[in-house]
Amino acid sequence: MIQMKNVMKQYDNGVIAIKDLSLSVDPGEFVYVIGSSGAGKSTFIKMLYHELTPTKGTITVGKYDFAKMDNKDVPLFRRELGIVFQDFKLLPRLTVYENVAYAMEVIEKDEDEIKPRVLHVLKLVGLEQKLRRFPNELSGGEQQRVSIARAIVNAPDVVIADEPTGNLDPDTSDGIMDILERINADGTTVIMATHNRELVNSRPHRLLEIAGGRLVRDEEGGAYGNEA
Ligand code: ADP
Repeated sequence: MIQMKNVMKQYDNGVIAIKDLSLSVDPGEFVYVIGSSGAGKSTFIKMLYHELTPTKGTITVGKYDFAKMDNKDVPLFRRELGIVFQDFKLLPRLTVYENVAYAMEVIEKDEDEIKPRVLHVLKLVGLEQKLRRFPNELSGGEQQRVSIARAIVNAPDVVIADEPTGNLDPDTSDGIMDILERINADGTTVIMATHNRELVNSRPHRLLEIAGGRLVRDEEGGAYGNEA
């Protein structure tokens, strides 16, 4: 599903954020990415969704080999991916329903298909009662649930979540994890960058640790706090 080989990323200012990173993730895995601030997690995650291009090395996600992709392939590739951000990135002038429907409209799905699918995913995240609310009328946890609904509405093979619980309290984070684990149980690969020790330890999954731009740990069901 995901392969990185000898990936290096150097920013224009000379900083080498990722040094030499190789890994592979199978379809259906749930993978945490941890590491201290500045370790290179965001750079790694952004390369996965093709926001950043590696300076050296190769990346493949599904059938997309990044080295062979040009700009016109990027939107096609992004359809196969759901992305969840720490700060939700919802459109403030659209309702809950419209925020999710928009992800289907931009890829020109039929209106007939959009409505039942949007209602289905909003039910899945427990927001069927709040379709007409605007983002600023929702709690943080609810906003994150809208953003997860938006990420999965086009049935992606992979969901990438960058600190999805970073702005949420522990109980709300737990609810978000329940949803991500349910999506994973349905077969979607989930890659989640996080600082949340309690979550990682209470819900064991494969754990990748990045330090100084390198992969320093790759353990099935590894525990946080037990750093390499
Ligand atoms: P993390 O997400 O683990 O905090 P980052 O990937 O954001 O780590 O950063 C890794 C390193 O790359 C840090 O030294 C950071 O200062 C540097 N860095 C991140 N983004 C940029 C950028 N746009 N330009 C230059 N250096 C950057």
